[in-house]
Amino acid sequence: MKDLKTLTPLTKILKEIQHINSAIALMGWDQETYMPLGAGQARAEQMSFLKGLVHEKQVGKEMSETLAQFVDLETGGLSGDANDWDEPASACLREVWRDYHHATCLPSDFVRKLGLETSLSHQVWIEARKKSDFSLFASNLKRIVALKKEEAEYLGYGDSPYDALMDRFEPGMTIAQVAPLFDALKAKLVPLVEKIQLSSVVPRKEIFQTYFAEKAQIEFGEKVLQAMGYDFSIGRQDLSAHPFTTSFHPTDVRITTRVDEKDLLSSLFSSIHEGGHGLYDQGLSVAHFGTPLGDSISLGIHESQSRMWENSVGRSKPFWKHFYPILQKTFPEQFEALGVEDFYSAINTVGPSLIRVESDEVTYNLHIMLRFEIERAIIEDDFPVEQLPVLWNDKMEAYLGVRPENDAEGVLQDVHWSGGAFGYFPTYTLGNLYAAQFFNQAKKEIPNLLEQISKGSLLPLKSWLNEKIHRWGRQYSSQAMVARVCGEAPDPAYFINYLEEKFGEIYSLT
Ligand code: MG
Repeated sequence: MKDLKTLTPLTKILKEIQHINSAIALMGWDQETYMPLGAGQARAEQMSFLKGLVHEKQVGKEMSETLAQFVDLETGGLSGDANDWDEPASACLREVWRDYHHATCLPSDFVRKLGLETSLSHQVWIEARKKSDFSLFASNLKRIVALKKEEAEYLGYGDSPYDALMDRFEPGMTIAQVAPLFDALKAKLVPLVEKIQLSSVVPRKEIFQTYFAEKAQIEFGEKVLQAMGYDFSIGRQDLSAHPFTTSFHPTDVRITTRVDEKDLLSSLFSSIHEGGHGLYDQGLSVAHFGTPLGDSISLGIHESQSRMWENSVGRSKPFWKHFYPILQKTFPEQFEALGVEDFYSAINTVGPSLIRVESDEVTYNLHIMLRFEIERAIIEDDFPVEQLPVLWNDKMEAYLGVRPENDAEGVLQDVHWSGGAFGYFPTYTLGNLYAAQFFNQAKKEIPNLLEQISKGSLLPLKSWLNEKIHRWGRQYSSQAMVARVCGEAPDPAYFINYLEEKFGEIYSLT
C-alpha cells in the first residue's frame, strides 16, 4: 500500500510553499494591526513579490514533474492502480492536484487583467459607496462580471458557471445542492421574521449602549476565550479595524477584535466568533502542516466553527448561566439590577436591518439569500448590472420588509463583488446550517453537553470538534464531513428547528 511517506518529495515542496504563504499571512496580520501607516506601499510590494514566488513554485517545473510521478496532470487521476493508495494519501493527491489545476488553468494574461481590474474596481467602489451612487461603480462591476464568466469557462463546470465560482470557496458544492437548502430555509425564515415583528415582546437591547471600559471588555473576552480552550501559548488576540483570524502554523494563530466602549456586544461576540475560527486553526495537524491534510476544508466549514461558538454556545442560556455573574462583577453598574433572562433576550434581539454585518441570527440569512439570488441572476441569466439597485431593494422589501433609501445602505454595502468574489456569500449561510447540524450531533454524543456549558465547562465541546473535524484537514469535502460526523447529508431542518425553538421562546410565539 502506498501511503503519505511515498509522497515525501511532494510534501517537501508543499511545505516550502506554505512557509512563504505563512510569511505573507504574517505580513498581512501586521498590516492590519501594528504596521505604521507609511509602510503601506513597501508592504504591498513585499507581499506581491512573495505571492509571485508562491505562484512560480505552485506551477513550476519542480512541482509539475514531482506531481506527475503520482497523478495524471491533465485529469488528476492517480497513476497506476488507484487501489494501491491508502485513503489519506489519495485524498492528499486529490487536493494537491485540485490546487495545481486551479493555479495552472487560468492564463497568466487573464490573471493579470483580473488583478488589475479588481484593484481598480475596489477603489471605485469605495468612492461610489462614499457618494452612495451605484452608477459610478456599474461599468467596473460589468467588466468584473464579464471576467468572472470567463474565469468560470477556464475552470470548467457541470451545470452552471456559478458552480465553478462557488467551488473556489466551498469545494464541490453546486447550485443543485445549495438552492434546495436555501429555498427550504427561506420558506421558513420569512414568516418567522414576520411573526417576531408582530410579537409584543421587545427585548431591552438599549442596555448595551452605555459605557463599557475597553480594558474590562478585553479581559472578559479573554476569560471566555480561555474557557473555550483557545490556547494563548500558541495564539494571540490583538486589535484591528475589522476582526479576523489568520494562522501561520497550528502553533501560531492570531485573532483580532475591535472594541467600542459604547457597545459591549461588538467586541464580545467578535472575540467568540474569531475564537471559534482560531480553535479550528489551532486544531489542525502539525504533522501534516503545509499539505492539504493540515489545512481547513472550506469557508463554510470554517464559518460553522465560528458560528457555533458565537451563536449555539455564546448566545445560549446555559452559557450565560455561568458567565453572566462574571459579567455582572465586571460591569456592576451596568448589570447589577438586570436579571439573566432579560440579558439573554437582549443579546438575541431580532429586527430587520439594512446592513448585513449588523444583522441578527435570524435575519442574517435572508441578507445572504438575496445576494445568492442576485449573483445567480448576474452570472447565469445575464441580468443587467445597471438594474441591480432596484432588484436589491425589491428583494429587501419582500424578504425583510425594509427598503434601503440609498445605494450605500443597499447594493453598495459589501466589498465582495468589487474584488470579484462571486460565490462567496453562500458560505456564510452554509456555515450556519453546518453549525446547527454539528451542534445537534454534539449534544447527542457529549454527555450532558448543555449542563457542562452551564457550568462554564466548554472543553468537552472543543475536544469533540478537534477529534471529529479539525484534525482531518481536507481529507474529506464539506459535504462528506457533514455526512461523516452527523450520519446524513447537510439538512437545513436543524438550523430551522433551532431558530424556531429559540426565538419562539424569546418572543413568546405560538
Ligand atoms: Mg467568520
